[in-house]
Amino acid sequence: MTATATRVLVLNSGSSSVKYQLLDMRDGARLAVGLVERIGEGSSRLAHTPLATGGEQRETEGAMADHEAALKAVAAELAADGLGLDSPELAAIGHRVVHGGLKFTEPTVIDDAVLAEIERLVPLAPLHNPANITGIRTARALRPDLPQVAVFDTAFHTTMPEYAARYALDVETADRHRIRRYGFHGTSHAYVSRTTAALLGKDPSEVNVIVLHLGNGASASAVAGGRCVDTSMGLTPLEGLVMGTRSGDIDPAVTFHLKRVAGMSEDEVDELLNKQSGLVGLCGDNDMREIRRRIDAGGEDGARARLAFDIYIHRLKKYLGAYSAVLGRVDAVAFTAGVGENAAPVREAAIAGLEEMGMAVDADLNARRSGEPRLISPEYARVAVAVVPTDEELEIAQQTYALVSA
Ligand code: ADP
Repeated sequence: MTATATRVLVLNSGSSSVKYQLLDMRDGARLAVGLVERIGEGSSRLAHTPLATGGEQRETEGAMADHEAALKAVAAELAADGLGLDSPELAAIGHRVVHGGLKFTEPTVIDDAVLAEIERLVPLAPLHNPANITGIRTARALRPDLPQVAVFDTAFHTTMPEYAARYALDVETADRHRIRRYGFHGTSHAYVSRTTAALLGKDPSEVNVIVLHLGNGASASAVAGGRCVDTSMGLTPLEGLVMGTRSGDIDPAVTFHLKRVAGMSEDEVDELLNKQSGLVGLCGDNDMREIRRRIDAGGEDGARARLAFDIYIHRLKKYLGAYSAVLGRVDAVAFTAGVGENAAPVREAAIAGLEEMGMAVDADLNARRSGEPRLISPEYARVAVAVVPTDEELEIAQQTYALVSA
């Protein structure tokens, strides 16, 4: 890497999409951002915004048969702005990788052995890791000489003590099949817990934080002195909170019942719990804005939306209570992601009635909109309640850059 190489390209490769951001690590500025959708589906779409030049978003439609075609199209867009992959200013490419198992506890420079290990983890994340691997392979083919770094969603959670990570299952069976709680959204939990400490003017090692990452997928984590000690997602991202389309915690016997009594297949149960449950299963909508609108409109439909909202909040409260007990002392609760950052009614309802636990929300502060990390608790509250916009791309870029410039 040359001394002038200060840029990092972050790639988040999904099964039919690639999201990317090019950042300048001197100040974290975004030079370009974009998204390729519908890869391999006949009519792909690339939306590219060259922020460095202040240019407008450019859209290209056309067939992109695979990730290689998509990444080549991205590289061409970047090159058109003088930000090409061959630029000496590019220091590394940082890849989001969903599952790092137990092996990857840190961001890792990718070589053949690392790639083989990520492949070995495919059975644990069959929907995600294959797409991440394709993204890595393609990027390596385009720039074989450039350091490529994998940043794992699970890594932040590998500090969980064994008693939090292990299910109360037969040990031999669990170990043989690598069944344990891995947790996800780790990049976000790491970024948000650290930013919350900074908001309090403290070092991460001094504070205990409960992070509530509430997006379409949702998870909670208990972070003690900068280290994750528990998180709500488990073997897969299905466990824990009520989500947009996922059930979260459920009696596992429900699945036997669905098979034995309802006659559903394995795949149908999987689909039901992952895609047709959560808020969408409860009321038909997974967008919190629409749910609030229906509640405000009232009537029978409003009551259905209200019940979905109440179930969502009830689960959040249970995790707030559980993680308060796990941490012993809570310094802050941080709300993040689409719902956490934007839905004031969710924050208000989740914290309501928790005064005995030192938690309260100030109605005026909670109603204010801002893209900045901010406190929404009243001065007198023992526990700081914060809204902290997450930035997974910046975190991936920072971890990548720290590793390659070390
Ligand atoms: P993902 O998990 O897909 O990254 P996000 O973190 O972007 O999701 O969160 C998406 C969700 O955020 C939407 O489904 C919606 O429920 C919620 N959301 C986004 N904007 C608002 C808003 N202004 N008010 C309430 N909820 C919002």
